Amino acid sequence: MPKSYIGLGSNLDNPELQLKSALAALNDIPETSLVQYSSLYRSRPLGPDNQPDFINAVALLTSGLTAMELLGRLHEIEDRQGRVRTGQRWGPRTLDLDILLYGDEVIDEDGLIVPHPGIRHRNFVLMPLLELDPKIEIPGLGKGEELLGSAGTEGITKIKTGE
Ligand code: ATP
Ligand code: CA
Ligand code: CA
Repeated sequence: MPKSYIGLGSNLDNPELQLKSALAALNDIPETSLVQYSSLYRSRPLGPDNQPDFINAVALLTSGLTAMELLGRLHEIEDRQGRVRTGQRWGPRTLDLDILLYGDEVIDEDGLIVPHPGIRHRNFVLMPLLELDPKIEIPGLGKGEELLGSAGTEGITKIKTGE
């Protein structure tokens, strides 16, 4: 079954608890198992900075669903955890779940781009991803380690070790 990496983020309504609930919900998706998850990281928000810091992590799943089916399930989990879609890009949210990688697939469809275009510049995605697989290669972009070298480690702190 394909391995997929999911980026989790929250900066509203007890972010650590939001991530904990989300990890349980990921494991409850049909045909899907949560294999491993990273430490939790605290990071400065992208975009509007008049909002709380984010808590971020990355989860590794195996899933029999297609990437598009999986995205639908992620949106359901976001909705259940009170995600309000305000239209403001990178605004505060209770939960954000992004498909970072789906096997070694490169997807560019309406509403789904994989690898997630944010990966290459975002240390809060690259650090937890590298924690799960230090040798990770991002299809089309190269070695995760080199991307993190360029992105740098500013504004991010590890706060809790994963499992
Ligand atoms: P960013 O995508 O830059 O991290 P965001 O997570 O705040 O920003 P959202 O408002 O959560 O953006 O999502 C906007 C749309 O992005 C979603 O409706 C979804 O269809 C689309 N999207 C495209 N590729 C992906 C992906 N790999 N994972 C999750 N959503 C994706
Ligand atoms: Ca996002
Ligand atoms: Ca998102």
